[in-house]
Amino acid sequence: MAPAQVDATEKQDQEQVVPKKLPKGVVLGPDGKPCRTCTDVASWFAMTGGKPKQAATQPADITTAPRASTTTATLPADCPPDVEALGRSSWTLLHSITAAYPTRPTPQLQSETTSFLSAFGKLYPCWVCAEDFQTWMAKNTPRVSSRSEFGTWMCEAHNAVNEKLGKESFDCTRWEERWRTGWKDGRCDP
Ligand SMILES: Cc1cc2nc3c(=O)[nH]c(=O)nc-3n(C[C@H](O)[C@H](O)[C@H](O)COP(=O)(O)OP(=O)(O)OC[C@H]3O[C@@H](n4cnc5c(N)ncnc54)[C@H](O)[C@@H]3O)c2cc1C
Repeated sequence: MAPAQVDATEKQDQEQVVPKKLPKGVVLGPDGKPCRTCTDVASWFAMTGGKPKQAATQPADITTAPRASTTTATLPADCPPDVEALGRSSWTLLHSITAAYPTRPTPQLQSETTSFLSAFGKLYPCWVCAEDFQTWMAKNTPRVSSRSEFGTWMCEAHNAVNEKLGKESFDCTRWEERWRTGWKDGRCDP
């Protein structure tokens, strides 16, 4: 990036107004400013006074029970993600990686996978999420010796977050149906 561009970006960051009283749910970043990728869009709207659009329908999903606190505020799909959109996309990537993982990975791939998870835990753009994920991984060492082990470990990692957020736990015996083969009732078959 050219120096002038760097200046403009830094200036924009500095000009971000931080309201004195923050609504519940707004998480600050390490810089003391509201962290968009750590905050759900409804809380973000509450802070900015913006008008959220109502989500038309929630996606059908038999694997998670309906929640009392479902977020109805949405932004157009081409806006920066809030904590929920970031999470959904990230879990899709992580579970899909486990689905494509070999049944018998080489020692080198196992080592690279462990390194990837360590880097992912440090780089995850919601810092509070990242800290908790790192803490969880320190107590639950990644199991990467086979697809089955890795997929189940990832499901358990996701369930730890589900539990923290008060969401329904996912049945980890069914992770492959959700993320690799499609459900046995055939509805995911082309
Ligand atoms: C590493 C990480 C840490 C996070 N930490 C936080 C946090 O601290 N605070 C916060 O507010 N948000 C956090 N999130 C985001 C949060 O987990 C959700 O992604 C977000 O709240 C949106 O939830 P959702 O109900 O739409 O479905 P998601 O939880 O995103 O799940 C997407 C889909 O995955 C399937 N699924 C659900 N559970 C499992 C499972 N255990 N195994 C396999 N498949 C499953 C379901 O079909 C579900 O619809 C984190 C995300 C990641 C990737």
